Amino acid sequence: MRVIVVGAGVIGLSAAVRLAEAGYDVGVFARDLPLETTSAVAAAIWYPFLSAPPDRIAGWARTTYAELVELAASVPSVRLRHGREFLTESRPVPYWADVLGDFARVGSPPRGFKDGWSFTTPVVEMPLYLQYLVKRLEAAGGSLTRAALSGLPNSADVVVNCAGLGARLTAGDPTVTPVRGQVLTVEQFGLTDWLIADQSPSDLTYVVPRSNDIVIGGTSQPDSWDLSIRPDTAQAILDRAAVHVPELRQAKIIKHRVGLRPARPAVRCESVRVGEQTVVHCYGHGGSGVTLSWGCADEVLALVKNA
Ligand SMILES: Cc1cc2nc3c(=O)[nH]c(=O)nc-3n(C[C@H](O)[C@H](O)[C@H](O)COP(=O)(O)OP(=O)(O)OC[C@H]3O[C@@H](n4cnc5c(N)ncnc54)[C@H](O)[C@@H]3O)c2cc1C
Repeated sequence: MRVIVVGAGVIGLSAAVRLAEAGYDVGVFARDLPLETTSAVAAAIWYPFLSAPPDRIAGWARTTYAELVELAASVPSVRLRHGREFLTESRPVPYWADVLGDFARVGSPPRGFKDGWSFTTPVVEMPLYLQYLVKRLEAAGGSLTRAALSGLPNSADVVVNCAGLGARLTAGDPTVTPVRGQVLTVEQFGLTDWLIADQSPSDLTYVVPRSNDIVIGGTSQPDSWDLSIRPDTAQAILDRAAVHVPELRQAKIIKHRVGLRPARPAVRCESVRVGEQTVVHCYGHGGSGVTLSWGCADEVLALVKNA
């Protein structure tokens, strides 16, 4: 059966891999190739953020965690790393924490913070990981083609719509909106643990070490379409992060990046019938696309099987 997947971010590629490895004839069409997507900008740690509804998120996140832990044993772009999150107010244990084997409260959070927790979670090095997914797709017989579509194609038995923010056009859905995220990367100097220390909902503070660099973030700016790098924002991000990791001040800056998270009141992952064709929508993952990717890919596969 021919399946066209629209979108080559982490959601489209993960779904395409699942479908191709299950024997479907899969073609991925995308305006932006993997390294040009929002997914390539993600930090990216497994951590449910800016996505709903919690009951479905919990299931998708759990499946993805298990899959990423398994991949970490053989795929260099996925690595398990320990880290800490500091909180300005005490919070109940999050609904997703039961997935984590070593989740624990932090004994003495730094000044300005009242609580915190630590755990080990997958860190996914997105530029490398997206290329790994493309290779897996091609090895299973699938293909990837650049194409900016003005609507969903009608030339396949099933179309899977993983257009992220582009679903405003491909699904005519104005409830998908951008949440701007700005980050910078610096040269790695031996940092091993990640850190999150947000003190405001819009000015985030996180530090995520990767093999050869460190991602420092960030921002969470609803309804901003601005893809330009703002130097003052970059300096503020660095200043906030250096409070916790002073070595960041001396580290050489490699790159600045901006991505627009595809936010939606709830992730849309469902199948609809359009004439003779089945359309499976899977978009609106907000700040959790990587965290939910394999759980959603499994659901897409199940929906396509039922088409
Ligand atoms: C700074 C930042 C940090 C983040 N950190 C994390 C993190 O730590 N953990 C985490 O889980 N998530 C994180 N995220 C969120 C994550 O990046 C997104 O949830 C995820 O990238 C969404 O993936 P997607 O495949 O739906 O969309 P995208 O990656 O945006 O891909 C959409 C695809 O659809 C294609 N498309 C759209 N319209 C059309 C069209 N008309 N025709 C053809 N193709 C089209 C695009 O070209 C693209 O290929 C972060 C995001 C940002 C910006």
